[in-house]
Amino acid sequence: MTIDIQFDQDHVWHPYTSTLDPLPCYPVTRADGVELTLEDGRRLIDGMSSWWSAIHGYNHPELNQAAAAQLEQMSHVMFGGITHKPAVELCRKLVAMTPEPLEKVFLADSGSVSVEVALKMALQYWAAKGERRAKFLTLRHGYHGDTFAAMSVTDPDNSMHSLYKGFLPEHIFADSPEGGFFDPWNPDDFSDFRNKFMASHQQLAAVILEPIVQGAGGMRFYHPEFLRQVRQLCDQHGVLLICDEIATGFGRTGKLFACEHAGISPDILCLGKALTGGYMTLAATLTTKHVADTVCSGAAGCFMHGPTFMGNPLACAVANASLTLIGEGHWQNQVAQIETHLAELLPPLTELEKVKSVRWLGAIGVVETHEPVHVAEIQKVFVEQGVWIRPFGRLVYIMPPYIMDATQLRQVVRAMEVGLSD
Ligand code: PMP
Repeated sequence: MTIDIQFDQDHVWHPYTSTLDPLPCYPVTRADGVELTLEDGRRLIDGMSSWWSAIHGYNHPELNQAAAAQLEQMSHVMFGGITHKPAVELCRKLVAMTPEPLEKVFLADSGSVSVEVALKMALQYWAAKGERRAKFLTLRHGYHGDTFAAMSVTDPDNSMHSLYKGFLPEHIFADSPEGGFFDPWNPDDFSDFRNKFMASHQQLAAVILEPIVQGAGGMRFYHPEFLRQVRQLCDQHGVLLICDEIATGFGRTGKLFACEHAGISPDILCLGKALTGGYMTLAATLTTKHVADTVCSGAAGCFMHGPTFMGNPLACAVANASLTLIGEGHWQNQVAQIETHLAELLPPLTELEKVKSVRWLGAIGVVETHEPVHVAEIQKVFVEQGVWIRPFGRLVYIMPPYIMDATQLRQVVRAMEVGLSD
């Protein structure tokens, strides 16, 4: 039976899409390796890894096997008062692979929820210390998710702040660094952050930011020195640092975690997306023993969060298989290769009239245009070129599965070139 596109148009709400004038949707019937297969049989090379998540490619035999084996045992069981091997093994792996003092793991349902969890941890930490600290300091161009607290620390201009004014708590936004990852460090890039931090640190529960790569808020890559200086200020004044590595975690930037570019570790770390290799939703918020124990020494006596599907065994089993693949280490070479190819393939695109600039880091490639692109039109061209890319605003960007080879990547960049040519 074919996919009922008309029903989809009439009744199914897609991400960031209007019911009055829905964007066209392409029916996909299967996905294997780096390819999506459309219902009409056309195959598209996927430049998006399903929004950063399918790092090992689709229909992966080891991930399939992990899901199937777990399905035979149990798909789900509540996590309150019960534990199971998939969760214990996953948390053991996460503690071992993340930077040092992080050792307590809270499993959450999605990236946005793991950010809510991180913010709640910071609030409860200060409450337990007898201080009411309700402000967060964050960066312009940041993005942390679509739930309410996550939205409140997401770029106020680029996002839904004006729409939800009065419903969102108001936090403090510092300018994000202008200089790029590969540019020489410009100390002025830290001035606004330092000033805002110094003016507010006694009210701050935490600083929250995306380390090195600001994703959905602008696809910007900044200098590691910025992150080092943030860590230093937080340490000097006892403010917690939350790093949102939901997009950057598990090798995407060329390091296992983007924090490693700066040699720092946060007090609270959010992970998601690639955690299950893109198979299903699962996220994790990790923290130190000090933060966790302080949270639990407060009046509540525990951390106040516990979703129904917390620690879902099926998701944990697939995540374990994905982290085993990461542990084998092929990602390092694969991401380095993709970075080398992007460095060769992207710069010529700056000759196109519509293109303002290009940038890349690890397995992330970005083309910024002068004017916002027409998503439906340009996507049609990409599909005709046998490629799947979903741009937003002035950003046409890719973060391919790590297994993408040079020929496939060339085809993806060629499609970008065709789509952006007149
Ligand atoms: N933080 C960052 C940095 C993200 O990129 C995203 C997802 N784009 C989120 C949080 C939210 O994750 P989710 O969509 O799984 O809720």
